[in-house]
Amino acid sequence: MSVSTLTTEASFGGATHLVCRACGAHAKLGADYSCWECFGPLEVAYDFGTVTRESIQAGPFSLWRYAALLPVPSNIAEQRNLAPGMTRLHRADNLAKALGITGTLWVKDDSGNPTHSFKDRVVAVAQSAGIQLGFGTLACASTGNLAHAVAAAAARAGQKSVVLVPSNLEQHKIQATAAYNGHVIGIEGNYDDVNRLCGELIGEEVSADWGFVNVNLRPYYAEGSKTVGYEIAEQLGWRLPDQVVIPVASGALLTKVDKGWREFVELGLVEDRPWRVFGAQATGCNPVAEAWREGHDVVRPVKPDTIAKSLAIGNPADGPYALDAVRRTNGAIGDVSDAEVVEGIRLLAECEGIFGETSGGVTVATTRKLLALGLLDPTAETVIVNTGEGLKTLDAVSTGNGFSATISPSVDAVANVIEGSK
Ligand SMILES: *Cc1c(COP(=O)(O)O)cnc(C)c1O
Ligand SMILES: [Zn+2]
Repeated sequence: MSVSTLTTEASFGGATHLVCRACGAHAKLGADYSCWECFGPLEVAYDFGTVTRESIQAGPFSLWRYAALLPVPSNIAEQRNLAPGMTRLHRADNLAKALGITGTLWVKDDSGNPTHSFKDRVVAVAQSAGIQLGFGTLACASTGNLAHAVAAAAARAGQKSVVLVPSNLEQHKIQATAAYNGHVIGIEGNYDDVNRLCGELIGEEVSADWGFVNVNLRPYYAEGSKTVGYEIAEQLGWRLPDQVVIPVASGALLTKVDKGWREFVELGLVEDRPWRVFGAQATGCNPVAEAWREGHDVVRPVKPDTIAKSLAIGNPADGPYALDAVRRTNGAIGDVSDAEVVEGIRLLAECEGIFGETSGGVTVATTRKLLALGLLDPTAETVIVNTGEGLKTLDAVSTGNGFSATISPSVDAVANVIEGSK
């Protein structure tokens, strides 16, 4: 065994190399994201060895219980990081009733992560890779949640951070990100402009030390999303549901939940069975839903215009792979208007006490639409993923000052309000 193989095993766990998703060419584990043969996207490949339910359950109560299935060192749980994951899987009987679902409905609530969105998962894995590859600064192009997750993760690990976001982002998201005292840079343009800029910054002097979690560390970043799928399976008692509904921005989360389930089947951790993967987008940024409807393999970029800013990626990197996962599993991708997004947020909050951000509203409303279209099976066991916290997108649901009444401090005045609302 060569020294370099030993080093690889030490720093990236069971990951062995990068592989091109388009042409299958191999590359060494490094800060590369596109194939030098065909420019296709690179993905992490592994030699998993033996992983059992028991070995996973013996691990920490965080996504690091799946460290053996991620490109991270085996001692990752002992290092300084935010250890996200193991968010709650709620049984959602009230929402099921409201939606007309007679099968069991579950909400995987990833707003329970350290910075209140699923992005903590992908950042945790990319941060580890960045440290292994010698980057001193953690960076990203973001629609908001990723910036927050990067700034917090960097602070925790004692790293510097630089996050680049569209300058028209929700004020709350910018202010929350600024609390960690990294660089928060507003770019005059949309997310796709920010992303292009980050691509141009790779290899420049000013940013030589920056590991961009979703650009040059993207193969590692994307793997973090598999843990949403792993957790759903483990929390259901080591089995897979009939169908899952997932919000789509770049398409990585959807693609990787499906990949995670295929890995669990291959490793013998769950029984094989057919499952269906469904995607959810806002109509104001629906390039993947549109391609699905039109039967296209290519995703035509759009200019985003929606309140669901966390999903506003007009040119989604994993769009074709999300389409593939949806078609292969006999799923579908739907989209909903901004008004429906707000209805979705309210419905989830009223029925289940879960206040999701706009992406959660997109997912609930799209679930309703896909049921109405006969694409989702109302009798099947269904999981929907709420990926973020409603406090991050308060403006979307703000009505007046929020009070149902403002009154003098008297019993009669309270009685008037309560009786008046009957
Ligand atoms: C980023 C994000 C998504 C979608 O993630 P992709 O992997 O890019 O498709 C969904 N919900 C929230 C809240 C996000 O921040
Ligand atoms: Zn290739």
